[in-house]
Amino acid sequence: MKIAIIGLGNMGGGMAANLVKAGHDVHAFDLAEAALAKAKEHGCTPYSNVREAVAGVEAVVTMLPNGKIVDSVYGGDVIGHAPASALLLDCSTIDVATARKVTAAAEAAGYAMVDAPVSGGIAAANAGTLTFMVGGADAAFARAEPILSAMGKAVIHAGASGAGQAAKICNNMLLGATMVATCETFAMAQKMGLDLQTFYDISSKASGQSWSMTSYCPVPGVGPQSPADNGYQGGFATALMLKDLGLAVEAAHSVDASVPMGERAEQLYRAFAEAGHAGQDFSAIIEALRDGALGKVGA
Ligand code: NAD
Repeated sequence: MKIAIIGLGNMGGGMAANLVKAGHDVHAFDLAEAALAKAKEHGCTPYSNVREAVAGVEAVVTMLPNGKIVDSVYGGDVIGHAPASALLLDCSTIDVATARKVTAAAEAAGYAMVDAPVSGGIAAANAGTLTFMVGGADAAFARAEPILSAMGKAVIHAGASGAGQAAKICNNMLLGATMVATCETFAMAQKMGLDLQTFYDISSKASGQSWSMTSYCPVPGVGPQSPADNGYQGGFATALMLKDLGLAVEAAHSVDASVPMGERAEQLYRAFAEAGHAGQDFSAIIEALRDGALGKVGA
């Protein structure tokens, strides 16, 4: 299948390589020369702009930084330039309102489109083990599934247009809040004189257990291998968690949902990022909580 992929950064680069591995003819474009050169090494055909990349393709995949860019790429260079028979798949994490607006514009021009944000970081993008949460009509989902399967281990239909983005930000709000709760609890356990491995052995089998504890433990040397064992490098950057919490809180306000834990997690991650930790893995917030550096936020 002839597929264009726009946005070949940390995530899109690996996704493009996996589309090639699955036997697709991949047309690639990114504003960054280095990203485009890397995609070429992985077997993609590089193009010098979006319009050329999407000409004559059967599907367009985008993996871009934010909703404003997604809106301008689709509005300016994809809609009306890719064949109307092409399926459009936006895998970026963006706000629900923009996702619905772009899909409505695409559908008005005769395209089928899905929002298909991902769970899983750079390693999962490279390994082809992402989880896709898909919003869109049944027929569009049926066309999207085999394309997304080449890049992921699970492809789940979340509902109508925008539902993929809604599921993504709800999941990540829960993740942000449980990570903060896990970190503050380990910091407190230490101050109460508990051995942290022993506390892990107890809590991981008791009712305090969560993914943040048993799959991504923020304490070095405790639990499975995680960014904590690598100086909090790699993994999921604090800046990206803050982005997702911002989208979640904005969405909560738009539907009048009460999310005090999500709002608190956003405040804490904003303070942590502003203190110079935006590039560190989001589980590194345990160090600031242990030191009391975020103690006054929202107090
Ligand atoms: P990134 O910044 O590494 O990559 C984005 C790429 O888009 C860059 O290479 C940039 O040059 C390119 N780009 C920007 N504007 C463009 C334009 N107008 N035309 C073409 N290319 C353009 O970001 P990333 O980490 O790959 O994240 C991409 C998306 O995936 C984001 O929406 C992010 O929230 C989401 N996401 C990231 C992760 C992660 O762990 N990195 C995990 C889940 C979801």
